[in-house]
Amino acid sequence: MTFFSSVISHNVFLRNIDHTQREQGQFFSVTVAGVSAQPMLNVMDRSLRMFRHADSLWRAFVPVENMTPPGIYTLFFRNNKEEQRLEVAVTPNNRPVQKIHLDSSKTGLHATEIEKSRVKVALHTETSEQLFMGVFRRPVSGRTSSLFGLQRSYNGGPVEGYHKGIDISAPQGTPVQCTASGKVILTGAVEEGFLVHGNTVIIDHGQGVVSVYLHLSSIAVHEGQSVEAGEILGNVGHTGISTAPHLHWGFYLYGTSVDPELFEGHEL
Ligand SMILES: [Zn+2]
Repeated sequence: MTFFSSVISHNVFLRNIDHTQREQGQFFSVTVAGVSAQPMLNVMDRSLRMFRHADSLWRAFVPVENMTPPGIYTLFFRNNKEEQRLEVAVTPNNRPVQKIHLDSSKTGLHATEIEKSRVKVALHTETSEQLFMGVFRRPVSGRTSSLFGLQRSYNGGPVEGYHKGIDISAPQGTPVQCTASGKVILTGAVEEGFLVHGNTVIIDHGQGVVSVYLHLSSIAVHEGQSVEAGEILGNVGHTGISTAPHLHWGFYLYGTSVDPELFEGHEL
């Protein structure tokens, strides 16, 4: 009897995953069906909320941080006393080191405390409601001049972190469109202390999905405003640490940076 009850209890809810292998900087989309209460997902020492996707269907986008060591990881799904596990593989993305030259007007710039703290809070936004719908769009047309995940060295120095988005080259003043519907959760201006990011807009798309738009010449929205896909957020510029007019476009899941190319042209 013990054997059967244990088998049954492990099949009370069903979990599904879109991929069993992803690269550093990508994400897994996982769903749990057949439970009414919000399940938790634990992976890589993190506890992630799952969000309601439909009746008794819950979903989470599990980010793989860019510096995660390649290997096998276990996802733990917990619902009351139930637990299910799923093994996934993380593979290297083999992004090279990018050497960047900054002229003397930009080398002395460091993020201010207000910039760091306000951006950090915004990137970790988790709204239960799904605000995005349809296909995520590219915010400006133009060449991708820098990929996500490149490790970066400035003026011949050591590697300092990695590129947490993609750069899209576009002329100064080009309108920047919102990638998908959501809510403006941060606008930050150079005059307020946004010395590194420059003029900044951050959008909450709900359910842990956040997009960012940096180095703008001007900002056309205000905090708290609901925005539709394609709505103008501001204009391309090169404020903050930037060598030429471009849009830095980023995506975050539960505060972890992932590759925007996984969103562009896709529906989640
Ligand atoms: Zn960038």
